[in-house]
Amino acid sequence: MRDRSLPVLLLLALAAVLLVLRLLNAPATTSDDPSTPVQPTAMAVDAFGMPVEGFSVFESTVRRNETFSDLLTPFGVDYERIVTLARDHRDVFDVRRLKFGRPYRVYSDSAGVGTYMIYQPSLASYVVFDLGENPAIRREERSLDVRERTVEGIIEESLYMTLIDQDIHPALANRMADVFAWQIDFSRLQKGDAFRILFEEQYVGDEFFDIGEVLAARFVHRGEDHYAFHFEKDDVDEHYDENGQSLRKAFLIAPVEYKRISSGFTQRRYHPVQKRYKAHLGTDYAANTGTPILATGDGTVTEARYGQYNGNYVKIRHNGTYTTQYLHMSKIKSGIRPGTRVKQGQVIGFVGSTGLATGPHVCYRFWKNGEQVDHRREKIPSVGPIPDAYRPAFSALRETYEVRLKKPITPSLDRRYAELLQTPTALTSP
Ligand SMILES: [Zn+2]
Repeated sequence: MRDRSLPVLLLLALAAVLLVLRLLNAPATTSDDPSTPVQPTAMAVDAFGMPVEGFSVFESTVRRNETFSDLLTPFGVDYERIVTLARDHRDVFDVRRLKFGRPYRVYSDSAGVGTYMIYQPSLASYVVFDLGENPAIRREERSLDVRERTVEGIIEESLYMTLIDQDIHPALANRMADVFAWQIDFSRLQKGDAFRILFEEQYVGDEFFDIGEVLAARFVHRGEDHYAFHFEKDDVDEHYDENGQSLRKAFLIAPVEYKRISSGFTQRRYHPVQKRYKAHLGTDYAANTGTPILATGDGTVTEARYGQYNGNYVKIRHNGTYTTQYLHMSKIKSGIRPGTRVKQGQVIGFVGSTGLATGPHVCYRFWKNGEQVDHRREKIPSVGPIPDAYRPAFSALRETYEVRLKKPITPSLDRRYAELLQTPTALTSP
């Protein structure tokens, strides 16, 4: 028995040693033996976390009017699965919302059949479609890398151009117009206006994604300094001026002390004078003749005259976003003419029934981004000063930024270089 069992034990020991050696070497020798299972930890994945080996990847962008089914049928994806994805996973992603120009990629197996699809609604997120036997959709977010930047300049043409000259994304111009909407009309900037902006840029990897927050800014408009400081804590997320007053201002709810609303905003109503159905894109406030009509916000008068239908009326442009109009006045207040700057609550005229009107009232009209809207349904920001509890923190933040903002503003290097090139002495005729 002992004579026979020894070689068997030796063989078993040898086999065990070989097995251990085999396992130790496994990662380096997987490919030569097809039966060796692929180890998950060694599997290579791409930027979307998808397996690289065994798939061929087709990349493109969504063309105009192209549907989800259009994208997948060339890859032999079973029509039933396409329908299932479109129908049963709408809560995760609605395939009817594929956007023209956005990138997508299809992963096909060795037989050329589409197995996964990735669609990128934005640089910061992507959608994974599993086209296998159990079709599924999931959304993934990519992390944004935030970098702080400072830009300064003196405006020659527009803020937009000044930013482009310095290789800054022009979305920053829109962001600035939002921040200072109530202080500065960005469509009426002047040559010589100057700015310094501390802001954030968002990146996905090394690719620019978007302009982030305007952290602090100084804008010199017509020789006057305007400051903005972004303060964010708990529920507060606002831009304040150097005194801690919010830069956003609310409108007055109504332009007049009224008795009742005689007609609301509607796309369709029976007109009492014209005796037909038509839209009423305003709110009628009934009040006694002669009651003062107030500007609902700071702004500049653009129209103040008589019109056949509107009667005596005044139109005020508040900023790049909002415009208001006040109709049927018995009289426009003296001094109110195109170009007049008005303050919120300032009297601009008096209630009457001039033009097409049945009784004394103000027809108040409200435009947002060029479109007439029901101002009573608009969420108009109403913000007070920084809450007392945050005063010390705000002051500290303001002081840090102020040091950087108050330094003299110089034209950008690019601009100075361009000016140098434009001077006659620098030009050489061919
Ligand atoms: Zn009206």
